[in-house]
This record gives sequence, structure tokens and C-alpha cells, in this order.
Amino acid sequence: MKPQSLVMVIFGASGDLTRRKLIPALYLLYKHNRLPENFAILGVARTAFTDDEFRERIHLQLLRFVKPEDVNEEKIRSFVSLINYFPMDPADPDEYLRLQPRLLKLDQMIGNGENYIYYLATPPSLYGVIPQYLKNVGLNLSKGPKGNKRIIVEKPFGYDLESALELNNIYYKDAFREDQIFRIDHYLGKETVQNILALRFANTVFEPVWNRNYIDYVEVTAVENMGIEQRGGYFDDAGTLRDMVQNHLIQLVALTAMEPPTAFNPDSFRDELAKVYQSLTPLTEKDINQHIIRGQYTASEGRKAYREEKDVAPDSRTETFLAMKLSISNWRWSGVPFYIRTGKQMPTKVSEIVVHFKPTPFPLFNCAERTCPTANLLIIRIQPNEGIVLKFGLKVPGSGFDVKQVAMDFSYSSLGPIPTEDAYARLIEDCILGDSTLFTRSDAVEACWKYFTPVLEYWKNHPESPLYGYPAGTWGPREADMLIQEQNAEWSNPCKN
Ligand code: NAP
Repeated sequence: MKPQSLVMVIFGASGDLTRRKLIPALYLLYKHNRLPENFAILGVARTAFTDDEFRERIHLQLLRFVKPEDVNEEKIRSFVSLINYFPMDPADPDEYLRLQPRLLKLDQMIGNGENYIYYLATPPSLYGVIPQYLKNVGLNLSKGPKGNKRIIVEKPFGYDLESALELNNIYYKDAFREDQIFRIDHYLGKETVQNILALRFANTVFEPVWNRNYIDYVEVTAVENMGIEQRGGYFDDAGTLRDMVQNHLIQLVALTAMEPPTAFNPDSFRDELAKVYQSLTPLTEKDINQHIIRGQYTASEGRKAYREEKDVAPDSRTETFLAMKLSISNWRWSGVPFYIRTGKQMPTKVSEIVVHFKPTPFPLFNCAERTCPTANLLIIRIQPNEGIVLKFGLKVPGSGFDVKQVAMDFSYSSLGPIPTEDAYARLIEDCILGDSTLFTRSDAVEACWKYFTPVLEYWKNHPESPLYGYPAGTWGPREADMLIQEQNAEWSNPCKN
């Protein structure tokens, strides 16, 4: 239920995420009257701004980061008047003694509901301490329907299994209940990611063949044509496995592989996701060596090498590309490989899932082209050109009986304009309403880290393990092609789908 009044406290209010994503998302919610009637934002960071200086800054940023069709000067002005700023160092526990009366005063001005959402958009090193310091001054306590306190935590949720357990079990559980914690991964806020569920569970034609009897293998690709932009400091420490695979790609795998939930509510849905993570076949050292290919982009055609990027060590061994084969040990998926691939400085920006069905048991017809037309493909395009493509074989017109592959192509945009509000707006609204369905639960975070931490440890303990170079602007190292060739296959080329 939407509360009457709410203060959203953004820790990290002077940072990139707030500027590019959070404030534009909140503005869109405001513009469409989807925020509580009495609403205020309190931005918190160390940089000294007055309220007016901060509002001025936000105003300019909104004009820059909101799509032109969403700009409405009057709405922007009234939205910006809801924004306040409180300079403080969130790493200093004493500062919370000043924060508490400031927050109470703001709350009294808008309706005295004591409903607060804390958004942690700071460096991850503060994700543990902020909840503790809020607790120290009683800002964690919910008091029935009045006085809800929720906390949104940005990824990464931990750095490995140990740190994720520490965050979940020490810092959060001590200060907030699980139902107050909203671990946000904006991938789950995307319409087209949610549409994987509708495709699978709002239809009868796909589910009967959605298993090891009919599916040969599944590919998940999420690549971008950009480098690391200005995020060298963060990225060089994190790498692609932590930045993309452990969260976004594995979530796409889970949505593709999950069982139907018994109901569409937070617990049933997240139970099924967690079961997929718990069923990932643990990786042995041999698997890590043979089935995980890491790459790093090198200079090519005017594009810098990764090691030449700002804030990146000149001898960095951080991966900017990763391809791997993973398996799920359960009745539905036993023996079906999932190939996932992600990288920076690739030829294009695309996210898609390709489900490869098994060919017909017996080839009755001649193939008019190299690709076997009787092995159906279902392509779920997440971005760009959101849509679904089903490829199947049909007879070539004229004499003879050759068959070729044709496509039924559904474009999501044919349903009307894709909602302008982005994933952040959707997820922030869900948090305001107290709906945690699309947020990551602690058991899922822990199961994912349990699966991937051995890889990180192996790389740490075996610095000689291969890191292949690939020229910026290409599809990654050729070793990644060899990985999928085991399946007598090659990676789909999203540019040609
Ligand atoms: P950022 O631009 O570096 O901003 C960090 C914010 O935290 C600033 O407002 C900074 O402001 C504040 N801060 C408070 N204490 C700090 C301290 N001790 N050291 C450094 N900064 C401190 O980072 P960001 O890109 O906004 O990312 C914020 C978080 O969101 C990160 O954990 C990141 O992993 C996550 N995230 C970001 C994105 C994205 O697109 N940017 C996407 C997904 C997740 P003051 O210096 O004024 O205190």
C-alpha cells in the first residue's frame, strides 16, 4: 500500500548513480503522480552544498538525464522543491546524531508519518556500516503501519561469499529485518526481463517443451560496445564476473530455468529463483580451467586497450570479458548446458537469451542452407529492439522439398510505446509499495556467491591461469568460440538475428 507520507534518504547523493538514475527515476514517478502525496528527498553526502545549491544542481542534471519528451519545466521545478540536502560523512557514527533530528524535522513538515526509505548509493565499503549507524540512533525501527523503515542496497551485494554472509548476517539482520531490505538489481526492473516470466508462464505452448527432452542448449549474451567509461577505479577491482555475471547474467539464467511459482508473490517467486541458484552444479578446478574463458580487450582501431584506461593498473589482469558453460543439476535441466557470455568493447550492445531446441530425430528434408532449419530457436531479445523471435523450418517455394529457416518476429514496441520510466522507477515504486518480488533475497545472494567464489579464489591462487586478449570491437577471444564448439555450435550473432 502506498504510504501517505515518505522521506527518501539517499546516501551518496552527490554521486553518479543518484545523478543518472535515481533522481530521474524519482522525477518520472513524481510526474506520473505515483509518489506518496507527502514526499521529500533528503540527499546525504560529504560534499558541502546548501539545500539551494543542491536543488540547482539536481535541476541541471534532470535537464541532462531525463529524455526530452519527459521534460516539463514546471514539474521539474516543483519536484526539485521537494529535495533537501544534508552534508555528513556516513562513515562517522556521531554524524547520525545530527541526521536524526534533521530527518524528524523534515518528516514533521510533510506529515509526520516516520516512513523512511534509505537508499545506499555510496561505495560498497559503507553498505555494512550505514545500517548499523542508523540502528544506533533508532532510525531502523518500524512502528506498525506508521513508521515503516526500508533500506535499498545497491549491487554489489558483497565481494565474495564471506563478505556477502557478513553483510547479510551481521550488518543487515542485526539492524533490519529481511522484509525491510530491498537489494536492487535494475535488471529485474526491466520490462523485457519480466516478460520472460510472462512468455513462459502465461502460455501453454512453451512450457511442455521447456526441458532437457527438447532443449539442446541455452545461450545468454549481455555485451556492450563501450569500455569502462570513467569507472576504472571500481571496475579494475571488481572485474566482469562480479560486475555482470554473478548478478545480471545468472539472473537471466534463473528466469529461464526456474520452475513456475505457485503464486506471483514475493516469497513464491523468490523461492523458485533461489532453487535454481542452489541447483547450479558446483564448479571443479577442471571446470574453471576448461569451461570459463576470461578475456581483456586490447587496443584496436583507435580504441584504447583496457590497461590504458584511466585508473586501471598498467599490468592489470582484470577480465573485461567472460564466457562460460554452466550446468543445472535438477530434473528439468540435467545435461543441458547453459553458455553465457558478456564483455566490454564488443561490436554491439545487446542482451538476449537464445534457446536452442533439439533437431528433429530424423532429417526428412534437404537443407537449403547451412543452419539446420529443423532445430528451432527461440530468441528472447532483452535490449535493444525488445522482442521475441521464433525460428523454424519451412519449405522453399517451388520444385523439390528443400527446407530453410524462417522467423516469426514479435517486436515488443508493437504493443505501443515501451514505458518511458526505466527499471529504477519501477523498482523504487515497488519498494515504496513494500513489494519485494523483484528484489534479491539473501539466500539467493548467498547461493550465487557460493557458486562463483571458487572461481575468484582459483584465479587469485593461480595467477598464471589464462587471460586472453581480444581486440576492442570484436566478439572476444577465439577460445570462447572453441568453448561452444564442444556443442558443435557457434555463438549466435545478435547483429544477424
Ligand atoms: P560515485 O559516483 O563514486 O558516488 C559515491 C557517492 O558516495 C558520492 O555521493 C560520494 O559523495 C558518497 N560518499 C560518501 N562517503 C564516501 C566515501 N567514504 N568515499 C567515497 N564516496 C563517498 O559512485 P556511484 O557510481 O554513484 O555508485 C554508487 C554505488 O552504486 C556503488 O556501490 C556502485 O557499485 C553502485 N552502482 C552504481 C551504478 C552506476 O551506474 N553508477 C550502477 C549500479 C550500481 P561525497 O564524496 O560527497 O561524500
